[in-house]
Amino acid sequence: MRSKVLGAVLAAVMVTMAGQAAAKPKWAIVVHGGAGVIERQDLSPEQDKAYRDAMAKVAGVGGEVLKNGGSAIDAIEASIKILEDDPLFNAGRGAVFTAEGRNELDSWIMDGKTLKAGAVAGVTRTRHPISLARAVMEKSPHVMLMGEGAERFSASQKLDQVDPAYFFTERRWEALEKALKSQGLPVPPRPKGAPSVPELRSSLQHDEGQERGLLAQIDKKYGTVGVVALDSAGNVAAGTSTGGTTAKRWGRVGDSPIIGAGTYASNASCAVSATGTGEYFIRLTVAREICALVQYKGLSLQAAADEVIQKQLTAMGGDGGVIAVAPDGQMAWSFNTSGMYRARMADGQPLSVGIYKDDP
Ligand code: ASP
Repeated sequence: MRSKVLGAVLAAVMVTMAGQAAAKPKWAIVVHGGAGVIERQDLSPEQDKAYRDAMAKVAGVGGEVLKNGGSAIDAIEASIKILEDDPLFNAGRGAVFTAEGRNELDSWIMDGKTLKAGAVAGVTRTRHPISLARAVMEKSPHVMLMGEGAERFSASQKLDQVDPAYFFTERRWEALEKALKSQGLPVPPRPKGAPSVPELRSSLQHDEGQERGLLAQIDKKYGTVGVVALDSAGNVAAGTSTGGTTAKRWGRVGDSPIIGAGTYASNASCAVSATGTGEYFIRLTVAREICALVQYKGLSLQAAADEVIQKQLTAMGGDGGVIAVAPDGQMAWSFNTSGMYRARMADGQPLSVGIYKDDP
């Protein structure tokens, strides 16, 4: 009798294990579009839909690359480029302004197979900072380039160069004015090449009107973008792109381009991309801490992400969130803000898109 029971238990365990093995996806992707104070009552149905559509589109584009056998790095670059072109997000076009009225962009990409990485900080003329980060990783002997030197390298790599005014959006300018006034700081002149206010008013009656309506109340949200991916060769990678924080000063650099803080990837543990107030993420080395908990303590990816975001970050008074993926196909997100724009999908698993805390 006892052996019969044991046999049945063993059989059940084996079925479960077989089920788990079968369920391990060949590829997986998780994307975020920033975390912050994002509550249902803040977003109109159109705004809600615009963000969900953007997240779904980007996960779909990255997922397609992975489905076709592309690398995690290719999937990340392809999907982040879309977000950098989308003024809904604080990355590329739509980036927030520094106190001096500039858009200074930070980006990072890391390959979990080789631990190769590339980062740029404070760039102002590269349309796709994620592609520049990738070029740093693949075409330079360095890991991180900043400012003017990064711009020169970007041009030498023939990456798409734009006038700094390309990144200008009116609502980010309004958010800057508001932030500076609340801090008692002077508002700089509108950047050269930005539409003048009368010009803007007439254009708002046309296509930008819709964009502005969609974005009317986003000044309390962050909007950094990030993607983590597992490819069918079993490699993980992570990428992040941001304009940083509104009214940042003195050449401030956030966590996004800092290894182990806002971004990290290693096949030995996981790949992470973060969003939130970078100063906290840097001091907690959030991305690396999550991977270390997976690697050395054997925590599940979700438990590790929750430990760092819900406990450590929260205890320190920091706000934000992360997305993560592991080489065995685990996917996770965790945030201590009221919302985070996010989506995930994997081989054999449907697309899931969320904004608010209580979204699945
Ligand atoms: N983490 C970014 C930074 O501090 C901002 C964000 O995620 O919203 O630069």
